[in-house]
Amino acid sequence: MSTEKEGLKIYNSLAGTKEKFIPINEGFVGLYVCGPTVYNNVHLGNCRTFISFDMVYRYLHHLGFKVRYVRNITDVGHLVDDADEGEDKIAKKARLEELEPMEIVQQYTLDFHNVLEKFNTVAPNIEPTATGHIIEQIEMIKAILDNGFGYESNGSVYFDVEKYNASHPYGELSGRKIEDLLSNTRDLDGQDEKNNPLDFALWKNAAEEHIMKWPSPWGVGFPGWHLECSAMSTKYLGEQFDIHGGGMDLKFPHHECEIAQGTASNGVSPVKYWMHGNMLTLNGKKMSKSTGNSILPAELFSGNNEFMEKPFGPMVVRFFMMQAHYRSPLDFTSEALTAAEKGYDKLMEAMRSLEVVKAGEQSSVDVKAMVASFYEAMNDDFNAPILVAKLFDAVKYINSIKDGNQSIGSADLQLLQKEMNAFVAGVLGIRNDSSSSNGKLNPVMDLVLDLRQEARANKDWSTSDKIRDGLANAGIVVKDTKDGTSWS
Ligand code: AMP
Ligand code: ZN
Repeated sequence: MSTEKEGLKIYNSLAGTKEKFIPINEGFVGLYVCGPTVYNNVHLGNCRTFISFDMVYRYLHHLGFKVRYVRNITDVGHLVDDADEGEDKIAKKARLEELEPMEIVQQYTLDFHNVLEKFNTVAPNIEPTATGHIIEQIEMIKAILDNGFGYESNGSVYFDVEKYNASHPYGELSGRKIEDLLSNTRDLDGQDEKNNPLDFALWKNAAEEHIMKWPSPWGVGFPGWHLECSAMSTKYLGEQFDIHGGGMDLKFPHHECEIAQGTASNGVSPVKYWMHGNMLTLNGKKMSKSTGNSILPAELFSGNNEFMEKPFGPMVVRFFMMQAHYRSPLDFTSEALTAAEKGYDKLMEAMRSLEVVKAGEQSSVDVKAMVASFYEAMNDDFNAPILVAKLFDAVKYINSIKDGNQSIGSADLQLLQKEMNAFVAGVLGIRNDSSSSNGKLNPVMDLVLDLRQEARANKDWSTSDKIRDGLANAGIVVKDTKDGTSWS
């Protein structure tokens, strides 16, 4: 396994290129992923990012690395519009719902866990909350102030971006230049607490009516959103760690600010490999709760949404996501999901066949090369779609062994069984799930609908009604359209 482990390349957003992955401590990986702000139900776009990094985690684990995977819960300090002024997203929701902020946090944390569990994601090793790490955040702000990269103003503390930029490039991750940023923001400046509109909040002074607030050396207040991730990642993974992930929409300002905070407090750039997942789009536009262009997982599983022609199970959705590279945009459409469903069924069918096919004298295919191609795909910056294509080469082979057209030797059969299971279930996280698969039901339904069609052709209405009602009792709805009969 060691050679495969050494062959991993990761696209590092900071370098803008694929780099050989060399962990800071041999054999170990520290992985941090920005978690959700728990003020509403996660939509499928959010899920894509978490599923992408679940795949990353699973493959690192499969390669034999001991991974410490940290994904936080943001439960305070993330203000509306990601701004430095205005209402806290969670406090706002609590006000509207007439609940305690922590009731909001609990409700949506549970929803988040429940949804990710349906998508068969592995729980992180540590899931720290921002409110549980106020002390660490205060300590980090103190260090930033001591090192001269921040200032206090009216009980708030801001990061001094220009001062930092004099010795470190601010904007190195997002490719932004401080001059351009300045010319874009000066007009918007209404924030007199800040020396400079580019500065961002490390700590915010809380108004009297503010609910979520803590004492600090600068008065009663709450932490800035960017600082939370810096404090929690440093605490559990160290001043410098291997991989930081998140959606690409977080590159600026969130991750740029994390680099600045880490460097300003600890004197070292916090992350070696920055990884960013691309966005899930719906009808070509970024899936986003605020614009209404989003589907919730529950709405997709039940079919109760205006975008999809029928319900889709979580494993079909996961398989669909794995057919795109994590750095490519992916558009969610009924047609694409229907195609993914067929592919998923075919793959699951082949996995069942693989357990029952008999070994022969020798293999008609180079199985070791086939397995090596799985690793090659994933070692090339976690290229799951290429892996899926390689798995389908194996599916073709398995099917022709089953049909007696090709053969496999017994050692190769064992190898293929082991590695196919490892890659399908272990790395891609695709499991056989009856709620996602129509695989077994498809041929049965074809037969039943044929019989119904025959009865109708013979004007045998009692039989055709009996079939329809029987299916309805089993929860299967039959629809006759001009293109034929469909069921769900
Ligand atoms: P938030 O709760 O808004 O902070 O977002 C949680 C995570 O979901 C972040 O990593 C975002 O980058 C990610 N995210 C939000 N919208 C999308 C989308 N349409 N596609 C993929 N990831 C998204
Ligand atoms: Zn973060």
